[in-house]
Amino acid sequence: MPLVTGGSGVFEAVQRGDGEQVALLIQQDRSILKQRGWGGFTALHFAALHGNRPIAEILLNCGADPNITCDAGQTPFHFACRHGNISIMHKMVQHGADLRMVDQQGKTSLHHAVCGGSIVAMQYLWETTMFRFSDADNLLITPLHMAASTGNTDVVRYLLRENRCSADAVDHKGATALHVAAEKGAIEVCWLLLHNTGLHILHTKNHTGLTPLDLCSRGTTFRHQQLTKMLEQFINKPKDQKPRESYVMYYWTLLLPSVSGAAVFLIAAALGENGGVLCGLLFPLLAKVTLSQYHRMSDYQRLPNPIYLGTLTAAIIHTIIFLVQNTLKLPLTLLHIWPAYTLLNVSVLHFSVVLWLFWKLLTQDPGKLKAVDTDPRISSIADLVESNQNPCRFCVYCELFQVANCKHCRLCDLCVMDYDHHCLFLNRCVGQNNHRVFLLFVLAMIVAQLFFVGTAGYYLHWRSEVEESWSWSSVAMREAWVLLLLIINALAVLWETWLLSEQFNAISAGTTTYFRQCHHKKSNWSKRTVTVLLFLIEGKNFRSKNQNAIDI
Ligand SMILES: [Zn+2]
Ligand SMILES: [Zn+2]
Repeated sequence: MPLVTGGSGVFEAVQRGDGEQVALLIQQDRSILKQRGWGGFTALHFAALHGNRPIAEILLNCGADPNITCDAGQTPFHFACRHGNISIMHKMVQHGADLRMVDQQGKTSLHHAVCGGSIVAMQYLWETTMFRFSDADNLLITPLHMAASTGNTDVVRYLLRENRCSADAVDHKGATALHVAAEKGAIEVCWLLLHNTGLHILHTKNHTGLTPLDLCSRGTTFRHQQLTKMLEQFINKPKDQKPRESYVMYYWTLLLPSVSGAAVFLIAAALGENGGVLCGLLFPLLAKVTLSQYHRMSDYQRLPNPIYLGTLTAAIIHTIIFLVQNTLKLPLTLLHIWPAYTLLNVSVLHFSVVLWLFWKLLTQDPGKLKAVDTDPRISSIADLVESNQNPCRFCVYCELFQVANCKHCRLCDLCVMDYDHHCLFLNRCVGQNNHRVFLLFVLAMIVAQLFFVGTAGYYLHWRSEVEESWSWSSVAMREAWVLLLLIINALAVLWETWLLSEQFNAISAGTTTYFRQCHHKKSNWSKRTVTVLLFLIEGKNFRSKNQNAIDI
């Protein structure tokens, strides 16, 4: 039985990823291309299922049919869409894949791409102009129903953008996408649907007379309970309203380090010599709370967590308060050189520069990629595949084709050119437009902190001398606020020095810290120093150097 042996052999070879064996078996007997195995799958079905591009190409080049159906009426092209491998999908289209084919459930290739969760595959199919996002299967299930069922928020966002899918569409049971998401307890999907469409969909009843809230309240998980609370909160509001994002928790988290720090210090000051003990107990606790925070806040809006920005702001505010409050208390001359008011004036001036740079960083565009910045030669996913570039260059969030050295930041929700990193202490990205300001800010911070460490150290020394009865430990306990600020600033200087060395290293190599691993070229020290200085003076666009980089 050579045919059966060859058939099962080719399936095994495909599953193993053994291209040579596949090619050999086809050479021996071409009929194995149509051989069906488990579920009516052909070898091409298996290759598409595993996303094995070389084997799929061998099979297609040898004449395998991308439109042959398995027992469920699904073609290899459906499988490729589900896997999301654009190269295989494109190859199948070139070999005559019929984009109009639907499976036994009436699902199109777009349904399969949604099921697999690949937005690039969805975009590729949409670009063929053969699909509508409103297309439903035999059970009236739309792509949005399927995305809501899988709980994939990125796909739901994509389908709701530009009104691609209507959230009002109902399936054969009269259920909207909100019914589906509520039944699954998918709280973020429900928020997206309500935020995008309005509260009227919350009142839609399915064929059994149940609203999304009724379905959700049947669930027993923690997510269902959270979602029930959210939906109950919205159900009594006007139907034509859209729920707005609330920033109360965001600003509270932002202020928390400043407020809690101030509260601890005030209580510590009131306790006198025992204040140091209180600070010693509470500050590790505050540090633990800060360090255990996630990058996003835990509520359904999933806003970026500003706790580190709050910590940096608190450190700057507390440092300035110390300088203003205590510098004039110092003896008339500091190291017999500077009168105290000169010291105060210099520190006010320098901190004004620090605050100006800080404000600039918080408000300036980090280098957002716009449509005009993209390469005019690339206008579709097919263009990317044909020019042998990575299809992931299509940003599924901004829906733009990224240029070299560009990365999408999910926290900032934008593509940043010459991306360096997302700075948690600024809650913003550092990229082409603000990289130089960022470095100047870090340099200014180091100078300010060294200045503060010197002043605070001298202040503590002076206190121990003025109060003759006080020992050093007594000064440390009574002035715990100053001592802690001194330690924090001294540690920050060490960390920022390391950060600057990493930054200068990357800049001198003509790149950013994020893309540094791609560049191995090393030039001599003097050349690198000149590059860093030029960057600090006039800034630089790294992109032109790497414009033609090919990713694949
Ligand atoms: Zn993007
Ligand atoms: Zn960012």
